[in-house]
Amino acid sequence: MSILVVGSVAIDSVETPFGKGENILGGSATYFATSASFFTDVNLVAVIGDDFPQEHLDFLASRNIDLAGLSREAGQTFRWKGRYGFDLNEAHTLDTQLNVFQTFRPRIPAEYADAEYLILANIDPSLQLEVLGQVKRPRVIACDTMNFWISSKPEVLKEVIARVDFLIINEGEARQLTGETNLVKAARTIQGIGARNLIIKRGEYGVLYFSGSSIFAAPAYPLESVFDPTGAGDTFAGGFMGYLANTGNLSDEGIRQAIVYGSVMASFTVEDFSLNRLKTLDYEQIEARYRSFKSLTHFDVL
Ligand code: AMP
Repeated sequence: MSILVVGSVAIDSVETPFGKGENILGGSATYFATSASFFTDVNLVAVIGDDFPQEHLDFLASRNIDLAGLSREAGQTFRWKGRYGFDLNEAHTLDTQLNVFQTFRPRIPAEYADAEYLILANIDPSLQLEVLGQVKRPRVIACDTMNFWISSKPEVLKEVIARVDFLIINEGEARQLTGETNLVKAARTIQGIGARNLIIKRGEYGVLYFSGSSIFAAPAYPLESVFDPTGAGDTFAGGFMGYLANTGNLSDEGIRQAIVYGSVMASFTVEDFSLNRLKTLDYEQIEARYRSFKSLTHFDVL
């Protein structure tokens, strides 16, 4: 089953303690779509400017990502500039230029409107809401966001959250959104807003999944060299939703497996700048890392 993703396609400039990438391919929808494309077909809705390099479009098309919903407008592509210090868990935004996103109104092509799996990747929550108004009833709706939108549009964001099956946000954002320092309390508050299930990303410490009163924890894969954490969250979401769409298994067990696939995909992205590692990745490497996750976390109860 294919996935519909709406989010940002961006040109990023990123600095980490290990190097710099200037004007490189980025964006929440870009990472999501590329990651999910290892598991299923992806339909992408986003906007780019007339400066967007053809080589990036060729790359997305080569991943079997349908670009019928990617509109090209006069002006500059969305740009994000960020820096990471030695604590790679926290991105410091240096500059956000909305550019063509300022006037963008997502139009969902008719053939995408009955999408069964929808991810509202990180974009303006007003646009996320507009997308919800244009689709029929998807089987699974997931949503991501970030501090930029939590502080600028909290009320619209809460409207979106009330309508999703899975909210996927990082721990700092969960705290910011709720004013709670304790993550379990923050999760319960967010569930109270209406998100039925919640995945809290904790960078190198992995993820926590809250559903009803149950909690599942998955570690991040222990890597010796983490190069650039940009896009880890979107790549996680891509693996998670991609696997769910591929199997159609929404049982608790299926969701746990999807969480581990998401973690596997994220662990590859951070090994290089931009989408470079995903460009060389193959499915066998994904499977091998999934199996090593099992031995990493397995223990017996005697
Ligand atoms: P992540 O590291 O998973 O949170 O995602 C990083 C990606 O999000 C980068 O490639 C950015 O281009 C994109 N991004 C950063 N800020 C925003 C924003 N305000 N709205 C949409 N996308 C953004």
